[in-house]
Amino acid sequence: MSELLKRYDSTMLNVFGPPKLALVRGQGCEVEDENGKRYLDLLGGIAVNGLGHAHPDVAKAVTDQVQKLIHVSNFFTTPPAVELGERILHIVTGTDKGEPSQGRVFLSNSGTEANEAALKIVKAWGNQQGKARIIALTQAFHGRSIGALSVTHKAQYREPFAPLVPHVEWVQAGDLEALERAFDASVAGLFLEPIQGEAGVIPLSSQYLQRARELCDTNGSLLVADEIQSGMGRAGKWMAHHRADITPDIVTLAKSLGGGMPIAATVPLTANACSVLTPGMHGTTFGGNPVCAAAAIATIDVIERDNLVARAGELGQWWMNELRSLQHPLIAEVRGSGLLIGIELKEPIAQAVVERAQKGGFIINAATATTIRLAPPLIITEAEASSFTKTLPSFLQNGKGGNS
Ligand SMILES: *Cc1c(COP(=O)(O)O)cnc(C)c1O
Repeated sequence: MSELLKRYDSTMLNVFGPPKLALVRGQGCEVEDENGKRYLDLLGGIAVNGLGHAHPDVAKAVTDQVQKLIHVSNFFTTPPAVELGERILHIVTGTDKGEPSQGRVFLSNSGTEANEAALKIVKAWGNQQGKARIIALTQAFHGRSIGALSVTHKAQYREPFAPLVPHVEWVQAGDLEALERAFDASVAGLFLEPIQGEAGVIPLSSQYLQRARELCDTNGSLLVADEIQSGMGRAGKWMAHHRADITPDIVTLAKSLGGGMPIAATVPLTANACSVLTPGMHGTTFGGNPVCAAAAIATIDVIERDNLVARAGELGQWWMNELRSLQHPLIAEVRGSGLLIGIELKEPIAQAVVERAQKGGFIINAATATTIRLAPPLIITEAEASSFTKTLPSFLQNGKGGNS
């Protein structure tokens, strides 16, 4: 263990397990550890570093803004916060820039907070309308606060903190009939991830999303699309739900929204969802601070300028085909959308593969015991993607029953 990792161990609360590396700098899709060893970062800070590391436009936006204003409190606003709100509505609704939208934006600092605000909207809507039930899907991940955790499925995350928010029910993800059976007018809201990221990159079909929209319409329930991992162009559309051509009542964003800076958004889009929160019902101290907002605007600018949404879709499709054509006996399936990719293995060796890949200079992640997740910066090149495809078989070797 390095000196720094020893200090970590004797200082930091152990909720993550020991850090795999101490990283000191990055550039593009590469990061460098404290010993000067470089890695190709195919995880992108878990789908956060959409423009890679030290992107000059993000660095400049942050540097310029810290010299003007860092924080003002929510009694005031700033040009970056307002502009970011407009830009978010534009990319989430697909409206032209400047076109008025009935959607509204609440800026916060993390995915958990974005979902917490969405849950508060759903609960307050339910209280107004006499609806108590909240539906979430199996394998869902929505965050770690008591509220966001209440709609997160994994027992290991939830059970130590029981009882959580009441009236949450679980419906099998992807099973339309189960969703239909669960629905009636007592449902205040439905939470879903258009692509379930933490579950191992499991997309919900367009048909499922469309039927979910219909069920919410029929029953006066709010549909919450958690696009925290799948949004911001990663899935080959600005939002993963755009491929189903639906309008959720609420969209939540975080992760790559700020190009690495901590910022999140709760975006109610429909009249029902926009009407619920009134002054005093919700708030935040840091949310929408101008430095993070400026980073997010710069990130959206670069994604638009460099056409990275379409590029994510095309490159992801090509890469998934390359990975499939390895026809490796341990690979059961390669799935995903754009640059959110899950490699499903036939044996529970994903963690061992991650460790071997790290030794070999690649940062990847085991979303589950059998799933390798790739969520690289959207600026990744074909050559970088290929370098991983070529070496993956060597990381899969000795997989059987072993951990390196
Ligand atoms: C990461 C994630 C969250 C939680 O975001 P934090 O910023 O860690 O609070 C919520 N939902 C989804 C789908 C995520 O991937």
